[in-house]
Amino acid sequence: MWPVNTEKTPKLLHMTNQDWEIALTQANPTDLLPQRVGAIPYSIQAPLTLIDSLPIASDSRICIVVDSSGKYFSLPLLLRNGRVKRAEPGEGLAQAISDFPIGIHYLGNFTLSVKNQKNVSGERSMGVDQTEESIVVGEEIVVKYFSQVTDSTFTSLPKIEALDNAHLPFIPKSFLNLEWRDSGSHFLLAQASAYIPGAVDGWTWAIQDVQEFLDGHQTLDQAAQCGVVLGEILAGMHLAFTACSSSIATDFDVAQWVELSLRDLDLAGSDHNETINLYRSKIESILASAHLDSPQRLSFTHGDLHVGQFLRTPEGKYFVIDFDGNPVADPSEAPNRQPLLQDLSSLIQSIDHVARVVDKRRNYSRAQDLQKWITSTQRLLMSTYKGLCDQDVDSQLMKIFQIQQECREFIYAQKHLPVWRYVPEAAMAALMKENE
Ligand code: ADP
Ligand code: MG
Repeated sequence: MWPVNTEKTPKLLHMTNQDWEIALTQANPTDLLPQRVGAIPYSIQAPLTLIDSLPIASDSRICIVVDSSGKYFSLPLLLRNGRVKRAEPGEGLAQAISDFPIGIHYLGNFTLSVKNQKNVSGERSMGVDQTEESIVVGEEIVVKYFSQVTDSTFTSLPKIEALDNAHLPFIPKSFLNLEWRDSGSHFLLAQASAYIPGAVDGWTWAIQDVQEFLDGHQTLDQAAQCGVVLGEILAGMHLAFTACSSSIATDFDVAQWVELSLRDLDLAGSDHNETINLYRSKIESILASAHLDSPQRLSFTHGDLHVGQFLRTPEGKYFVIDFDGNPVADPSEAPNRQPLLQDLSSLIQSIDHVARVVDKRRNYSRAQDLQKWITSTQRLLMSTYKGLCDQDVDSQLMKIFQIQQECREFIYAQKHLPVWRYVPEAAMAALMKENE
């Protein structure tokens, strides 16, 4: 099925390239992106032009296309009866990629690096709404396709490598990476790691814990224990990152953090955002007073850390996933010079977000109990992290990142998920109240 021999690739490409090119110009590009449920997909403009492609079978390819605005996309596609469509779970494309033997495979301008392999069969959708699509292969492997073509340096790859070297029990085993090479740079197109059976993410398990606390099935202490686990995992992950790369922030870095936060503040406030309007001057004065009181470490970071990135199995084992970075952040910053404090801050804010979701579900009738859970869980997370990680936690500097995180939640709601807006509205208000 696969063009294992690199020399065959151009021939196979040549044979049907024109059919693919024509079909792509005629396609509705949005149909070729991961389909969203109640969320807004990436913006992509017709017509599409084929730049390169990796044949998988006679009718399927990973295509690199450029849209009319000049943006590059990577799409797993099928060509049938002169029309292109996105490859669906069950049509074998993800499985064909996972079937490749361990080793590095050079396929034209594409490189498939296989670290682990399992002979399994069957494909299904992950069954969750995602910006990028993940396919479960044989209930053992998750293949995640990236539509946006990003330089590998700014993707999950260097982070996963650092974590792999540390053999951490809470990182799913890595299987393979598919990259595309252009003008000397590499771009990540797909990544596969172990599927964790029966696991649910924090938007399910943390919400369940809180609901059980509200219903009297868990004590506050029990429901807040996840703070300890999250703190332990975050410390373990940061120690593995700093073992690979570590530096200390300067005043220049602080100025840059403030500048980026101000940029996010402007974006968050760009659509008549009442919350931002109300707190803008206060936020600006908090940001203006930011300074270094203690050494702050820079390294790789998870980059998009929230409870939804922590899977919990029915046996109570936890895993961290999704090192692709924040969907609304600028991916051009040095990936190994990120403030560790940012991961801590975004995770702390997501504890607040869990409670906001439950608050809405309970018609805002249990605000006091929910505040108790937020405070206890955040305290446990912070103290566990501080105890294990040799990192000074400066709460004044943390504010920069907590505010920035709430701005990013607003931007995410604007760009992808309008129904999410009530969460940063409540969380930003709470953050500003703390500062009174
Ligand atoms: P996104 O970039 O859309 O956040 P993720 O990679 O975080 O995508 O995956 C989305 C969801 O898919 C997760 O929250 C989880 O429910 C499920 N998932 C992802 N990876 C795994 C895995 N390795 N094992 C089990 N479930 C997973
Ligand atoms: Mg995720």
